[in-house]
Amino acid sequence: MKTILGLLYGGKSAEHEVSLSTARAVIKALDFNRYEVHPIFITLDGEWRVGNVLTAPVETIEELQFAGESKPNDISAFLTSGVKFDVVMPLLHGTNGEDGTVQGFLEVLNIPYVGNGVLASSAGMDKVVMKQLFEIAGLPQVPYINFLRVDWAANKQAIIEKCETALTWPMFVKPANLGSSVGISKASTKEELEQAIDYALQFDRKIVVEQGIVAREIETGVLGYNDPAVSVAGEIIPVTDFYDYDSKYKDGNTALEIPAKIETAVYDELKEMAIKAFKILDCSGLVRADFFVTASNEIYINEVNTMPGFTPVSMFPLLWQETGVSYKELIDRLIALAIERHEEKQ
Ligand code: ADP
Ligand code: MG
Ligand code: MG
Repeated sequence: MKTILGLLYGGKSAEHEVSLSTARAVIKALDFNRYEVHPIFITLDGEWRVGNVLTAPVETIEELQFAGESKPNDISAFLTSGVKFDVVMPLLHGTNGEDGTVQGFLEVLNIPYVGNGVLASSAGMDKVVMKQLFEIAGLPQVPYINFLRVDWAANKQAIIEKCETALTWPMFVKPANLGSSVGISKASTKEELEQAIDYALQFDRKIVVEQGIVAREIETGVLGYNDPAVSVAGEIIPVTDFYDYDSKYKDGNTALEIPAKIETAVYDELKEMAIKAFKILDCSGLVRADFFVTASNEIYINEVNTMPGFTPVSMFPLLWQETGVSYKELIDRLIALAIERHEEKQ
């Protein structure tokens, strides 16, 4: 019997296009003798469209975007499709994709799904909550402060002073609830800090200001559930000033070095920290844990991403490939983990 697999992609997110490329690559890697593959396209408006069963890889991304008159925020096609999914693979990023909302929806429907659950997804999406949990786990982080839009509106001067007292220049200003570097800027003066905060507030009501650090960006992949495993480490060799949205998705000129050239002792520490981060957020399936490593080998955790980039040329799959798990095996493994978690809960 084939496993009835729903592939959820697209979505009301800035990463809609990225998700379509991921879906095409995942479909190409699936064994059609093993899986009955149902594409589920979420339009930019939020309409869920369940397509016909796929029997072969799709040539173009256009084939994944079924026609139809879009009705905003409509999930009726999914609910009335009559398909009884054995497992759903959400290939979504950002808001409504990796923040726990879609996970909660699948949870309510009692459908096993790939990747992190509600708690890990939402805690991983909120940089302030994530940092507070990392603190409890004893994970070293760069100094930061956080505040809300109402605090800023009430007293800008007090917040700027707090930043100047607690942190050194340059500072990184981030909306708490985004990814892909959206809304993030670097500030080297008071004026820039003020502008950066106003800018970040366009994206979120909760803001993080972090002390900037001069460091290498090293990442590891974690895969598993009760007994997670860590991949080799990889390094992002940036071309731009920092790893911003364009360098992540557009320029294609950010080099990835896999495995990263780091000392064994540093790798061992990263590995331990990645597992700690995975566990404190109660992750399952997969996580990419991102670190800063200074010239003197001090390590700070930057963040975890609960739905890391998942095209065959993204860091997470490449890290696993180098570790000995191919893209195809990685997908099979993630689907098996989804079913394992679901069964444990029953
Ligand atoms: P996102 O979740 O959007 O990826 P990050 O916190 O990872 O947000 O920040 C995006 C990028 O900005 C990082 O990959 C790094 O290049 C740069 N950056 C973020 N915080 C700092 C910091 N404190 N010091 C130096 N660079 C930083
Ligand atoms: Mg992130
Ligand atoms: Mg990041």
